[in-house]
Amino acid sequence: DGKINLVGYRTQMMTRLSAEFAHELRNPLTIIKGFLQLSEYTKEYEKYQPVILSEIDRMYTILENYLTMSFRKCNYKEMNPDALCKSIISLLSAECMVNKVNFDYDVTYSENYCKIDVNKMKQVMINLLRNALESFEGQVFEKKIFFRGSVEDKGYRFSLSDNGPGMDTDVLNNLGQPLFTTKSKGTGIGLSLCKKIIAEHRGTFCVSSIPHQGTTVSFFLPFVSP
Ligand code: ADP
Ligand code: MG
Repeated sequence: DGKINLVGYRTQMMTRLSAEFAHELRNPLTIIKGFLQLSEYTKEYEKYQPVILSEIDRMYTILENYLTMSFRKCNYKEMNPDALCKSIISLLSAECMVNKVNFDYDVTYSENYCKIDVNKMKQVMINLLRNALESFEGQVFEKKIFFRGSVEDKGYRFSLSDNGPGMDTDVLNNLGQPLFTTKSKGTGIGLSLCKKIIAEHRGTFCVSSIPHQGTTVSFFLPFVSP
């Protein structure tokens, strides 16, 4: 009956997830090991350090994504959206500096509060940032990322823009599907996870993109009534 099917589905899903999880972690681990050996051999530690750090970050993202995917419930706190913007900005500016990307932001203050699970929202931002950074691969002109926090009628909007290659309609139409990716090393988990987290916050998620110009991903969180 339905119950058994559901258990079967969950087991199947978990088996698939753990296989993918192992597969995905092996990739950055191999790179880290390779670069550590290389730096030992050439003594050029500074040269390889950024790659090693960014691969370790990738492992964090993968790990966090799987944890959220499988277990963690939301742990909400009523907080000012500015507080979230502050921690997002410090995260973004550090990452952009390491990746030689020009970063700028504009945040509007609001007296209202939103119900926020800070760790999950940071995870959303990390996923969006990773996508923006990955989209820059091979880009020769200056790479730019812009973060905006703006007050709207009944809530607060957080948006991240990049001047990467953007997406054509074909890709845009498929974005909602879990496991959809255009990358050889991609998992297609990032955006569907972001959507899930925003939906849990009773918010909305929106992607707009123009080919050869860039992408803006934004999410809206409703204010809690005073
Ligand atoms: P993954 O990053 O593992 O491919 P995601 O769910 O994070 O999975 O993203 C799905 C797809 O959406 C990507 O493969 C890419 O084609 C597209 N995409 C997402 N963000 C951007 C972006 N900022 N610029 C261009 N394409 C993007
Ligand atoms: Mg991604």
